[in-house]
Amino acid sequence: MLDIFIPFFLTIFSLFFTGNKTTISTPNVIVVTLDGLRWQEIFNGADSIILNDKTYDGDIEYVKTNFWSKDLNNRRSLLAPFIWNTIQRNGVILGNRNYDVNFNVANKYQFSYPGYNEIFTGFPDDAVNSNDKILNKNINVLEYLNKVPAYKGKVAAFSTWDVFPYILNENRSGVYVNSDVDTLSFKEPSLNLLNEMQFLTAKPINVRPDIITYFAAKEYLKSYHPSLLYISFDETDDFAHSGMYDQYLKSLHAEDAMISNLWNTIQSITQYKNNTTLIITCDHGRGGTGKSTWKNHGQEVKESSQIWLAAMGPKIQNLGEVKVAGQFYQKQIASTIAKLMGQDFNETIAKHPVGEPLNYILK
Ligand SMILES: [Zn+2]
Repeated sequence: MLDIFIPFFLTIFSLFFTGNKTTISTPNVIVVTLDGLRWQEIFNGADSIILNDKTYDGDIEYVKTNFWSKDLNNRRSLLAPFIWNTIQRNGVILGNRNYDVNFNVANKYQFSYPGYNEIFTGFPDDAVNSNDKILNKNINVLEYLNKVPAYKGKVAAFSTWDVFPYILNENRSGVYVNSDVDTLSFKEPSLNLLNEMQFLTAKPINVRPDIITYFAAKEYLKSYHPSLLYISFDETDDFAHSGMYDQYLKSLHAEDAMISNLWNTIQSITQYKNNTTLIITCDHGRGGTGKSTWKNHGQEVKESSQIWLAAMGPKIQNLGEVKVAGQFYQKQIASTIAKLMGQDFNETIAKHPVGEPLNYILK
C-alpha cells in the first residue's frame, strides 16, 4: 500500500508544485496539411500511368530517377521517407484503400474551404460551399482551445493560402493566423529575414512558397512555443491543377522533409520533447483512375472525397500502416485534436454537430 501511495503522491506533487515547469505536463499538438495530396501517392508512390503518359510534359526523367522503383515499399519511401520510415515505425498511417481502410471527407463539396472547415470545426456544413474569403460562422477547435486558460495565446496557424484568416475567423477566434502576404512583424531577426524574403520571392503558385510558410512556423515555434501549431501547405494542389506532376511530387517530397526537420527540432525543445503529437492530413482527394482526372477534384470528380491521415506521438497507437478495413471521416479530426490536448470539443461547446474522436488511433 505504502509503496503504491508514495509514487502516486510524488506524481501529484510534481504536477502541481513545479512552478513554471507546469508546461511539461501540458500536451502539444502540431497539425500539418498538404492541400489536395492524393492517398494514391502516399500509399502507392509515384503513379506509373501518369509517368508513362506521352502527353505529359513535366520533368519525367527527374521523377523516374528520383522517385521510381518497381518495389512498392521502396517507391513510396523514395517519395515520402519521413512518413514511411519514422511514422510507419512509430505511429499510424490511415487511408490505404487497397486494404479497404477508407478515410473520407463527409462534406459533399470536396474542395478546400469545405475541407478545412470540416477538419477544424468537425462539422461538414452544407452552407460552407465556396472558396471565397467569407468569414466562417462555425466555431473551430483552435478557437476553442485558445479560450481554454492553459492554452490561451498558445495557438497559432501558418498557411500559404490566403483564405485561412477567414476559414479560422481570425478576429473572432483570437488565434494568430499568418497567411501568404501577412507581415511577419516580430523582434526575431530570423522572422524579419523571412518577411523580406516572402515579399521578394517569385510566386510560382501566386502565393508565397510553402518553404516560407514552413520556416515562418518553425521560427515562431522556436521563439513563442505554441501548444497547438497548424501549418498549411498549398503547392501540391496548385501544381496538380496545372498538370505539373513532377512539381506535385517534388513538393510532396520537400514537405515530407520539412516535417522531418520540424520533428527533429521539437525533440530538441523541452516543452515538446516526447510530449507532442504530430498529425498530417489533407483537405480533399482528387481523381484517381484516368490520365487526366488526377489533376482535378470536386463533386464532379470521382474519388475526390478520399483522403488519408498520418499521426505520431505519445498518445497515438503504434499501428504502423493500418491494413484492417475501416471507415474514418475528416469530421473526426477536430475532436481528436482536442482530446490529445486533454479537452473535449463537442456539440455543446461548438454549437454545431462535431464528429467523434478517432479513438481507433488513440491510446
Ligand atoms: Zn484544388
